[in-house]
Amino acid sequence: MKLTCLGKYGPYPKPGCACSGYLLQSGGKNIVIDLGCGTLPRLLKLLAAKDVDALVLSHLHSDHMGDALTLRYALDSAKKLGARTEPLPVYMPAEPSAEAALLASCAMMAPVHIEDGAEFDISGIVTRFARMPHAVPGYAMAFFAEGKKFVYSGDTGYNDSLAGFAGGADLFIIESAFLSKDLPGNAAHISAAQAGFIASGAGAKRTLLTHIFPLYDENEILKEAAGYCPRVSVIGELETYEV
Ligand SMILES: [Zn+2]
Ligand SMILES: [Zn+2]
Repeated sequence: MKLTCLGKYGPYPKPGCACSGYLLQSGGKNIVIDLGCGTLPRLLKLLAAKDVDALVLSHLHSDHMGDALTLRYALDSAKKLGARTEPLPVYMPAEPSAEAALLASCAMMAPVHIEDGAEFDISGIVTRFARMPHAVPGYAMAFFAEGKKFVYSGDTGYNDSLAGFAGGADLFIIESAFLSKDLPGNAAHISAAQAGFIASGAGAKRTLLTHIFPLYDENEILKEAAGYCPRVSVIGELETYEV
């Protein structure tokens, strides 16, 4: 498997950058995971909209699905031009209903609702979902292919299950939305220190931090997380990682 980061900022991007989005490629298939603000133009530099095999949305916040709304028009165009006839499978939570309805309004998108513990074959990749605590229904996801395991946390508050879910991953991408000093009491996100602690429990071969607040110094984020898990680094936009 090959993973390309289309964007890593949240909940809004740094100037000239993008929010969460990733392209997972395996066996000739193209699976897009989250498609936040600013990621679509980057995706379209790598492949045409007609060639996306599946879209997986961890949850329906704009910094993770904003550009999926615009992808609707690219898919509609592909249909009009005869370049694509099949709707795009979109794996996503059913709620919030307003956002889900916007995606479902596109005839070229075929929503598949995800639930805790669900397992799907997505373009030949076994994919499992686990519900995470967040402001709206949100899911971590694990992809199994080519004898490897790739895990993405989505957005999540602190919980005891994520480390186990990501256990033994070859690549683990985990959000680190806050520095500890800024972490709200009832957080829907985790701090970089908590991300490092969870990563240490997961024992992944490689851990990359994402969902970077645009006003933070990345070195501060890395320092906090590395205090618990020395092997972590911050993911790089437009970098490609072999899983
Ligand atoms: Zn987010
Ligand atoms: Zn969110």
